[in-house]
Amino acid sequence: MSFRFAVIGGGWYGCHIAASFRSLGFEVTVFEREERLFSRASGNNQFRLHQGFHYARSYRTRVQSRDGYMRFIERYPTLSEKVETNLYAVPNQDSLIDFLTYRLIMTSSGIEFREVEPAKYNLSNCSGVLLTDERVLLTSKARDVFSRRLEGALRLGEEVTSIVEHSDSIAVNGEIFDYVVDATWGGFSSIDIPVFYEPTLLLYYKSPNLGSYALTMVDGPLCSIYPTDEVDVFTLSSVTHTPLANFATMQESRAFLNQLSHDTIHQKRRLMEAEISKYYPGFVDDFEYIEPQLSIKTKIIGATDDRSCYVSKFGRRFVVMSGKIDTIFYASETILSMIEAENEIQVARL
Ligand SMILES: Cc1cc2nc3c(=O)[nH]c(=O)nc-3n(C[C@H](O)[C@H](O)[C@H](O)COP(=O)(O)OP(=O)(O)OC[C@H]3O[C@@H](n4cnc5c(N)ncnc54)[C@H](O)[C@@H]3O)c2cc1C
Repeated sequence: MSFRFAVIGGGWYGCHIAASFRSLGFEVTVFEREERLFSRASGNNQFRLHQGFHYARSYRTRVQSRDGYMRFIERYPTLSEKVETNLYAVPNQDSLIDFLTYRLIMTSSGIEFREVEPAKYNLSNCSGVLLTDERVLLTSKARDVFSRRLEGALRLGEEVTSIVEHSDSIAVNGEIFDYVVDATWGGFSSIDIPVFYEPTLLLYYKSPNLGSYALTMVDGPLCSIYPTDEVDVFTLSSVTHTPLANFATMQESRAFLNQLSHDTIHQKRRLMEAEISKYYPGFVDDFEYIEPQLSIKTKIIGATDDRSCYVSKFGRRFVVMSGKIDTIFYASETILSMIEAENEIQVARL
């Protein structure tokens, strides 16, 4: 049995779901409002292939990350890269949990790491540090790979403005499909889970002498440095200073970012540099500021540490509430299972 799918959104979720369904023999069309893939959150984030170290307080997120990390490497072996020195450090005062508890949670989650000395890495005010195998996502390469895999199925620069459901089909901008997958991270359909939209600010820096390096302070309202797919270029992020506001709609968030002043960005930069310097005292000497990265996060109301993925079905329309990038598999598998149940069929998996 073959189905025609319309996928709305050309980010990590839309591209992965579309490419997977295409390779299973389904007919797929991807509608992306922008002129190129990964124009929104998927191209503007911290590019971390999470393994679970970030989520000491959400078991569901940690388990999805651990499993998603392994599946990601298996399925997309060329789309992430090892970070040679990838440190997770627990501050001795500002963390919500102490180092021993943090280490115990990670050990019991079955994630591998090695404990190292903070002084060896010139870190201050830390009670313990783990050296991890977490990787960096290669975003530009992913954009190219999906552009090739989805050749003939991509409708770039085409915004979806209407969906009309009929008894045996569903129309997207007047075109007929069997199913629609909304992978816009809450940009198009509203989700049945209450969410808010958070405009975010990360900062790009250059550091020619560090090589492949990442430092994440855990657990709680702390900060991190992470590499990008560009050599010597890093992002600086802060749980406290990265979120700029919160809004009920994506449109309001976008309008807020469009009028963000240089002064606000400059003030935030000073706060973020002061914050990271407490643990990495050489930060301002080692890193040269380049520019801001502005983006929007869709977050579930009330689930402060939950970044897992949810999929809802409304008639012939699936709505994906993205987690992090490692949970793309959960989204595609869940949609397939729902289709199998509805049609009493079994789709052969790759
Ligand atoms: C600051 C920040 C840091 C983050 N760091 C990480 C990290 O380190 N690791 C990690 O795993 N995750 C991270 N995330 C989360 C990650 O970015 C998201 O999970 C992921 O990008 C979501 O992908 P998506 O495809 O669902 O959404 P998007 O990438 O936003 O894609 C949705 C697409 O839908 C399109 N669209 C919207 N409406 C329409 C319409 N009507 N018609 C056609 N197209 C439409 C948009 O143009 C967009 O391209 C971070 C997010 C932010 C904001």
